[in-house]
Amino acid sequence: MVNTEETHRQTSGDETHVLYLYETRKKIYARRFVGFFRKLKKRSGIPLLLGYLLLPWWQIDGRQAVWFDLPERQFHILWMTFWPQDFMLLAWLLIICAFALFTVTVLVGRVWCGFSCPQTVWTMMFMGVERFFEGGRNKRIKLDLAPWNFNKVWRKSGKHIGWLLIAFVTGFTFVAYFNPVRELTVEIFTFSVQPPAVFWIAFFTAMTYMNAGYLREQVCKYMCPYARFQSVMFDSDTLVVSYDEVRGEPRGARKKGSDYVADGLGDCVDCTLCVQVCPVGIDIRDGLQSDCISCGLCIDACDAIMEKVEYPKKLISFTTENRLNKTKSRILRPRLMAYVLALAAMVSLFSYALLTRVPLELDIIRDRSLLYRETSRGLIENIYTLRINNMDNRDHQYQIKVAGDYDFEMLGDQLVTVSAGEVFTHLLRLKLDPGLLKAGNTDVTFILTSTQDEKLTDSEESRFIGPFLL
Ligand code: SF4
Ligand code: SF4
Repeated sequence: MVNTEETHRQTSGDETHVLYLYETRKKIYARRFVGFFRKLKKRSGIPLLLGYLLLPWWQIDGRQAVWFDLPERQFHILWMTFWPQDFMLLAWLLIICAFALFTVTVLVGRVWCGFSCPQTVWTMMFMGVERFFEGGRNKRIKLDLAPWNFNKVWRKSGKHIGWLLIAFVTGFTFVAYFNPVRELTVEIFTFSVQPPAVFWIAFFTAMTYMNAGYLREQVCKYMCPYARFQSVMFDSDTLVVSYDEVRGEPRGARKKGSDYVADGLGDCVDCTLCVQVCPVGIDIRDGLQSDCISCGLCIDACDAIMEKVEYPKKLISFTTENRLNKTKSRILRPRLMAYVLALAAMVSLFSYALLTRVPLELDIIRDRSLLYRETSRGLIENIYTLRINNMDNRDHQYQIKVAGDYDFEMLGDQLVTVSAGEVFTHLLRLKLDPGLLKAGNTDVTFILTSTQDEKLTDSEESRFIGPFLL
């Protein structure tokens, strides 16, 4: 039921009416109901939650396994270190994730929202704390209506303290992906956390507390961009949570063992349990709605009722519009296949790029202050600055070679050692007898190869400039 009043302050005669633009939120008191989909929700949510909380504590080769080191512009993910130069890989990864989401949505609707989205997982956790302190649905409604007394104060305080603790751990963990977690923990206990870290921990604590404690389904309804466009991804063969209206209607209460068909009733006993368990507070019997997050909790509830009254299950089920209309439904359809193929191609290309990625970058900067200089022996000399970026996780010794049309004499160390993650600057001079030069300038290629791993190599072209020949 839309609870919308009108839009602004209106004066008619002596009376002034306050008119509201938006629907007033009605608090949802979701009933807990254990069934197949709730268990599935738990099993998909807990590993994701544990992954998020524990990943910063995992150490690989003495450093945090996942650490986005912004000051050093290095992004450590498991055994690899990425640099801003690897931005294309990140862009690819995001495109792959978006495509994976499209593919899953075309196949099974919003299951990501119902089972794995952080908003859902954290809201479920917050609801668990709420239930622990305030009890089940009816007790919570009664408590909210009751006057403030000791019982209400301690229950509400306990709930908010519990929420704040979870929110703080969430905020702390998020910041630990950007600051070494062990140092951050020591800083927390010694009250010496740096102001930027304090700000971000407080920010994410507040956001978690607000989103999972208060906003809940409103984040899905009004704030999430995925919820806005997911409806265009659906087609008549997408699996969505649906109520079988033909079978269920007309709904109504009936006496046990009565011939309800003869009484003109359908299978829905109008117990409203499907509405009471819904975390977004909708009635699935009103048809497919954009607010539905496909969590399947109404299926659990309705199946239990159907079992109790000894009717067939699946009055509410994951099904397609075509199946409900008794027309042919194809799960494997061209659109889905196109998404799967595009996804497979992108994952293959991404994996290839990742596996063949060389964690080494060479830049050559030619001395621009003078074109060339002549040595006391009458040779032509060019000066180069080599910028060697070792993007690997271990130190490397590199061999420097030069290739070109001439046999250049190289002055400067041809073996350099660069630490893991270091950008090393190295000066080199190339010399050549001017009598050998057939033109005023020529291409030279600097080749850098790790002495420990021949595949770790990079090269860069530059110019060798001599006197202009007439
Ligand atoms: S209608 Fe059912 S599937 Fe949709 S959000 Fe509510 S409980 Fe979940
Ligand atoms: S739970 Fe099933 S029987 Fe009860 S109101 Fe919902 S659809 Fe009808």
